[in-house]
Amino acid sequence: MNGEKLPSYDTNPGEWYTEIIQKAELADIRYGVKGALVFQPWSVECMEKMYDYFEADLKKRGHKNYWYPALIPESYFQKEAEHIKGFTPEVFWVERGGEEKLEERLALRPTSETAFYTMFAQWIRSYKDLPFRTYQRANVYRYETKATRPFLRSREFYWIETHCAFRTKEEAYQNVLEDMETTKRVVYGIFGIPTIVFERPAWDKFAGAGRTFGADAITPQGRVVQQPSTHMINQHFPKVFGVKYTDSDEKEKTPYTTCYGPAISRIMASVILTHGDNKGLKFPFEIAPKQIVIIPILAEKEPKVIDKAKELLETLEEKGYRIELDTTDKRPGEKFYFWEMKGVPLRIEIGPKDLKTKKFTMYRRDTEEKTTINENEIIENIEKQGKELSENLKKKAMKTFNGLIKDAKSIDEIKKIVGTGIARTNFCSVEKDGVNCAETIEKETGGKIRGTRIDIEDKLIDEGKCVVCGKKANHVVYIAKDY
Ligand SMILES: [Zn+2]
Repeated sequence: MNGEKLPSYDTNPGEWYTEIIQKAELADIRYGVKGALVFQPWSVECMEKMYDYFEADLKKRGHKNYWYPALIPESYFQKEAEHIKGFTPEVFWVERGGEEKLEERLALRPTSETAFYTMFAQWIRSYKDLPFRTYQRANVYRYETKATRPFLRSREFYWIETHCAFRTKEEAYQNVLEDMETTKRVVYGIFGIPTIVFERPAWDKFAGAGRTFGADAITPQGRVVQQPSTHMINQHFPKVFGVKYTDSDEKEKTPYTTCYGPAISRIMASVILTHGDNKGLKFPFEIAPKQIVIIPILAEKEPKVIDKAKELLETLEEKGYRIELDTTDKRPGEKFYFWEMKGVPLRIEIGPKDLKTKKFTMYRRDTEEKTTINENEIIENIEKQGKELSENLKKKAMKTFNGLIKDAKSIDEIKKIVGTGIARTNFCSVEKDGVNCAETIEKETGGKIRGTRIDIEDKLIDEGKCVVCGKKANHVVYIAKDY
């Protein structure tokens, strides 16, 4: 750690992002595989908590957890033409085992539909087996050809993938909506990241899916970071893999399937980008790698300060808090600066005077306010201030977020908004026939159509003509640059 100042979060967010990842020791990019990185404890601790919240929510909804092999036989991939076409350019292939050339190439999973469905064909027999809800936490591999960026886009990333099968299309769609609720409960409710839920346009669907939905977060600087997507796979995929069941009428039928993929490492990027400031990171209390740091003051003059600090550390650790006691020989001011940069929500300062008064000073990272608290009320105070901090981060993020959505009535207006916000505009069609207008928008503005909202009922702007071709608009779409 050096004392150099961070680039400004407000005016230079790109460099701020690169720097904070190194300074806060979130990840190290100096590993010898291009596009892959080493995640360090400061991000791993946080992402572990993020996994916990997602998995708890999925389990509550009836998902059972599996661990699948990372290797998928090429023949599985070959079964579904669109899927293989969509994923082939990104697949890492294993061709050898030791000295031997393998009889069949094995893919390092870029996603696991083909693996799950192969086994579904073995396991699902009767309508009584449905709904069948599964998930795994896994790392996946994609040979990204676009520039990689830590957490945002890398060739190996961490996610959860759910794969579910249902009797009816309605049940499957209901599950998609529930996935979106999970996103809202976890990504906004716990991590404090506001999102918009879109149905993606026809030309931007997951390879092999019937319909694709996705939640988008926007950085305060106006760039979209894709959050979990969820797909209505429908029946084509299960058919290809021979997944079928005997229904209550004794007839053999094909189930409808869905999948959902929260990419934990990419959501982490949103935590960094959404809550940061010029001093560094800020974490919601629930997912902070360390929630509290204790800083002893003037301990060199009064050694009892350290005893007290250790006693407090033990008490709080017993209560289950993630906590750090900084006994390094840095000056208190340096320690403050360091832990503020790392985004620790609460700081407790203990000095010689406090031993007699039995009061400590508590500092909150988000408001930068200090309060004096009684030693015997410390737990209540931590609980209260921790909760308030998370709520405050959420509220602030939502306010910024709402200010980033702006209406546009022409391509020029879209151009002005894109890059610093998300443009809302009238559009002819998100079915295949709208693809030319979409291409024009992308070429002229650099922004991409994210889709139509499904979380609210959107109303057309004014008389409702497509902003590109001038024909009758059937949809309101949102356009932004993404990471
Ligand atoms: Zn049009």
